[in-house]
Amino acid sequence: MSQPIHFALSQKDIPTRWYNLNADFPEPLPPPLHPGTKQPVTPDLLAPIFPENLIMQEVCPDRWVEIPAEVRDIYALWRPTPLLRAVRLEKDLQTPAHIYYKYEGVSPAGSHKPNTAVAQAYYNKLAGTQRLATETGAGQWGSSLAFACRLFGLECNVFMVKVSFEQKPYRKLMMQAWGATVHPSPSDRTEYGRKLLAEDPDCPGSLGIAISEAIEDTVKSQNTKYSLGSVLNHVCLHQTVIGQETIEQMKLAGEEPDVIVGCIGGGSNFAGLTFPWLHHKIKEQKKYRVVAVEPSSCASVTQGELRYDFGDTAEMTPLLMMYTLGHKFMPPRIHAGGLRYHGMAPMVSHAKKLGLVDAVAYPQKKVFEAAVRFARTEGILPAPEPSHAVAAVIDEAIKCREEGRGRVILFNLCGHGLLDLAAYDSYLSGTMQD
Ligand SMILES: *Cc1c(COP(=O)(O)O)cnc(C)c1O
Repeated sequence: MSQPIHFALSQKDIPTRWYNLNADFPEPLPPPLHPGTKQPVTPDLLAPIFPENLIMQEVCPDRWVEIPAEVRDIYALWRPTPLLRAVRLEKDLQTPAHIYYKYEGVSPAGSHKPNTAVAQAYYNKLAGTQRLATETGAGQWGSSLAFACRLFGLECNVFMVKVSFEQKPYRKLMMQAWGATVHPSPSDRTEYGRKLLAEDPDCPGSLGIAISEAIEDTVKSQNTKYSLGSVLNHVCLHQTVIGQETIEQMKLAGEEPDVIVGCIGGGSNFAGLTFPWLHHKIKEQKKYRVVAVEPSSCASVTQGELRYDFGDTAEMTPLLMMYTLGHKFMPPRIHAGGLRYHGMAPMVSHAKKLGLVDAVAYPQKKVFEAAVRFARTEGILPAPEPSHAVAAVIDEAIKCREEGRGRVILFNLCGHGLLDLAAYDSYLSGTMQD
């Protein structure tokens, strides 16, 4: 054994608390607004859709929030997740850079999303909720919530963006295997879905539409709450177990990152990896360059505006201060379904506005070229979403080679691509378009 490449923690090292960046922002995060009055929303306004304990987390000012023992016990099924050094990719790129990746694909659903799904199911169970309604794009969130609901004995009702429902049957089957009910969205289950289907029976759907349907289902059903897998503050909070573990693992590796990279759809895996590092960047003036990578075809941060906008297409959510392409934006059918969202988490947007993070955009073919290069050196087939991060990391490592400069690069490999092989097929057969 020549060189350590795997930096393992044990079950006792699972973080005991979540980190809340809202406690450390140099300027406070702009609050969500009521769309009618334009006043900050009060917790009672959110009460029909979220349980009180999660509403309190959404507005929580504390830096640290204790993780309930029941949640940590479930995290132990796959956490702590591995941190690996990509020595074979480094060699292939002939780069002096050191590349590390945190691998969240080892969870039961194959992505980072169970980190918040388990927490949300727990708090809902505690609050007496019997049924959760949600939306899902490519199915990663729906499958994560289906899994979490099963463990806590909750019913799970999922509105899945129609184009994915048809193109990606395997995650739908995972949800059904865990006992969830899945509808293609737009569906005939809601007034809003029926209206859209009457206008266009072939409407491919979007996350914004599916969110509207899930919220309508929530307010019109008994003992039902709504659950969102990204964007919101409490989701970013739950994901910070990723970054906290990574800080300990980089200590084991004896290195500190110069560049920290993650892909952004709604912003939660990026928040999860980077916020604990931003804590040190803010408190100790660390020089980490923190980079968010989005698809060129749905580039909310690099091409959108920072303003108040709705989180959904039907204008049912509060107004959120975020980078947005507009809530009516219909993203093209790219393979990274998890990155097809018009907005960005308010906390990630705020970090970008304050100059704590940078953003770049990549086109689809370049992303898959990077994914295949990663698979052929490191073995793991990355999901299309984190392949955006892989593409940016490869470019950074090549820059290091050209400048003759060693740097430490860390990124979040937030899911595997074993259920996204149709996307690989499209790339490998040469039919993929940008
Ligand atoms: C859902 C998902 C994303 C996008 O959501 P974020 O909230 O931006 O993390 C990215 N990668 C994977 C693997 C996902 O499942």
